[in-house]
Amino acid sequence: MVQLINCKEIADKIKENVRIKILNCDVKPTIASIVVGNNQGAKIYAQSKIKACASVGMIDKFYELDEYTKEKELIELIDKLNNDKSIHAIMCEFPLPSHINKENIISKIAKEKDADCINPINLGYLFSSTPLIIPCTPLAVMEIINHVNVNIEGENVVMVGRSNIVGKPMAQLLLEENGTVTIAHSRTKNLSTITKRADILVVAIGKPEYITKEYVKDGAVVIDVGIHRNEDNKLCGDVNFQDVEGVVSAITPVPGGVGPMTIVMLMKNCVEAVKLQQK
Ligand code: NDP
Repeated sequence: MVQLINCKEIADKIKENVRIKILNCDVKPTIASIVVGNNQGAKIYAQSKIKACASVGMIDKFYELDEYTKEKELIELIDKLNNDKSIHAIMCEFPLPSHINKENIISKIAKEKDADCINPINLGYLFSSTPLIIPCTPLAVMEIINHVNVNIEGENVVMVGRSNIVGKPMAQLLLEENGTVTIAHSRTKNLSTITKRADILVVAIGKPEYITKEYVKDGAVVIDVGIHRNEDNKLCGDVNFQDVEGVVSAITPVPGGVGPMTIVMLMKNCVEAVKLQQK
């Protein structure tokens, strides 16, 4: 029978551990969230983080900048936050307005305050198997896989998507656990032939309900990272849940899957960031 992975239960347990760690912390972990422009998704995400952080005793300072903010001004704010000892983590929400170069911004976030591991220096540490910080979403997926006791070593693991924030670091973490990892992307030929070999299939492509049962091996474990609103305005993932649920052995739901776990991982990383700065 298919196991619907109860990510909320996993997230609540980790959140409680984080809350206790914060109680015993001599400083209050504080994150600075920056949103530039009018992207509603970025604002909603940032605001939901503020609520979640408050629930574990963390502070989330919200910096809302208008869409005409110059790249130089954003860099000045990041520099200021880098030098502010009361700020332990910095998150800049994406997308940024088109006149701001994302790469210039992410490389300015101090590596010890880079709670989502987006600075190329931190990615370099990650890919050299000596991470300072692990990106929140891939870390969330690893927690989920570990929680359901799925063996990764030697298994065929397919990562669909190769973004710097999800696909590539995810593949690296799976490789660290000795999975036999294949990365697929938009130019991959015969995608379904590759995904059908996966004992563990992780999907982060940003295409609503794209993965149907034709892409999934019988008994596979499927982790759906995607988040969208479908035509009925309901939340859905990159995987067509109804279509694949009769084929898989375990699957994460959307909503209530990787998303809530990612926010908890951000809190966990913020506590890690405090430790990095105390070193
Ligand atoms: P990106 O758009 O940055 O990357 C998408 C990746 O998917 C690219 O590598 C792209 O390939 C690949 N891709 C696109 N179409 C196909 C296709 N038809 N077949 C195979 N590969 C394809 O997205 P992100 O990685 O940032 O996010 C992916 C999804 O995850 C989104 O739905 C996003 O909302 C969600 N997300 C969820 C989070 C959470 O906490 N749950 C956190 C972050 C993201 P190519 O490189 O060739 O273009």
